[in-house]
Amino acid sequence: PMRRRDFLKQSSLAAAGAAAARPDWSAFSQNPTVRLGFIGVGLRGRSHLEQVLYRPDVTVTALADVDPDALRQSNEMIRKSGRKDAAVYSGERDFEKLVLRKDVDAVIVSTPWEWHAPMALAAMKAGKYTGLEVPAVLTLKEAWELVETHEKTGTHLMLLENVCYRRDVMAVLNMVRQGLFGEMLYAHCGYQHDLRPVKFNDGKQPYGGGAEVGPQGMSEARWRTAHSVNRNGDLYPTHGIGPVAEWLNINRGNRFTALASMATKSRGLHKYIVENGGENHPNAKVTFKLGDIVTTSIQCQNGENVVIVHDTNSPRPYSLGFRAQGTKGIWMDDGDQIYLEKTSPKHDQWEPFAPYQAKYDHPLWRKFEKDAENAGHGGMDFFVVRAFVESVKRKWPPPIDVYDAVAWSAVSALSEESVRKGGALVEFPDFTKGKWSSRQPVFALGEEY
Ligand code: NAD
Repeated sequence: PMRRRDFLKQSSLAAAGAAAARPDWSAFSQNPTVRLGFIGVGLRGRSHLEQVLYRPDVTVTALADVDPDALRQSNEMIRKSGRKDAAVYSGERDFEKLVLRKDVDAVIVSTPWEWHAPMALAAMKAGKYTGLEVPAVLTLKEAWELVETHEKTGTHLMLLENVCYRRDVMAVLNMVRQGLFGEMLYAHCGYQHDLRPVKFNDGKQPYGGGAEVGPQGMSEARWRTAHSVNRNGDLYPTHGIGPVAEWLNINRGNRFTALASMATKSRGLHKYIVENGGENHPNAKVTFKLGDIVTTSIQCQNGENVVIVHDTNSPRPYSLGFRAQGTKGIWMDDGDQIYLEKTSPKHDQWEPFAPYQAKYDHPLWRKFEKDAENAGHGGMDFFVVRAFVESVKRKWPPPIDVYDAVAWSAVSALSEESVRKGGALVEFPDFTKGKWSSRQPVFALGEEY
């Protein structure tokens, strides 16, 4: 791993390389409070809001959401935290006004996917450090636009990929960096989550369900389900590919070079509507393009392969299905087990991962375990928000930057293309334009993020 001094040096070198528009550092030592604007304060936006309101160094000055109730609930949270109400914007394109406010240093975007790129572009063009929910983009065109806007304006974008901070994948990252798996060969990951009650949610049951979508639906049923109607590919790759990209130093000495995807037939969503709304429910006539299980193989420059699975329409317990494998051994998330040659006590037999988790727990987790306690998704949400705020305060390039954001998110568009072409191999664009070979890892190498 890079030593801390090198880590700092690297960051400031990268900073120096960015466009001249970068504001100077001293502004922050004089004013340590980060003034945030939130675009989208639905379920996810409010969960980020809760996290930032725990911090004394953050104020929330503006909110944009088309749902007045979401705005009301958010300002109630802000008031309860002892702060004064944020300015509110409720028009569909009012985010364009929010990003121009002088009392907004940075924005957090947690809106439906189709809004991510337009909102991030507006924020970056206005010079606002941007925290963007996953996935960053839907198309390759949007991906290039984000890269070019960052390069032109020098404004940073951090992808808020919380799973990179999951405790076990960070311990595994630590082990990968220390060479315990030998040379890395393979990783497996995915988004394997029964989203049927999210895609169809009439708001009548605590965990979703029903047969309603669109304006009749609740939360993600209002917009996410449409992507299953119109698209066939890996629609949600970043929770899996993000942590794997950190293990494999993607965009930092390595890169994705090509992928191929195959999709099964589509059965689960229609079946769910019929079971919950009856055969005559209007949604029972909808044809879903999305195959129930989409499997993608990705090749890497340094000779590793990654398999990533998108599986959201079938009854199944949740698992991101992580697996890290190298020349010396293998860890598997499912079963929480590990085997390391010449270390594991019994030849050819798994041992539990727990003792390794304790031994190789990442220093960030050791240090901030208590602070992470009341954050969502087992604490990882604390770390991703912390990394964002600390990056904004220091005006540092973020640990998960625009190149990571687009490479990880582009798996969707590329897998759609591959599925469309019957599983053909599709070339992966090099969004770094060659810089991948000299860029150095930064993620979780310093105390700040
Ligand atoms: P949601 O539907 O609950 O919230 C989206 C919000 O965006 C709504 O309040 C909606 O009114 C608002 N919105 C829609 N159009 C808008 C516009 N033009 N301007 C301003 N606001 C607008 O959905 P969610 O569950 O909060 O998901 C939001 C995003 O967060 C998605 O991209 C999702 O993928 C991501 N997410 C990530 C995680 C994670 O673990 N990282 C978890 C959940 C959701």
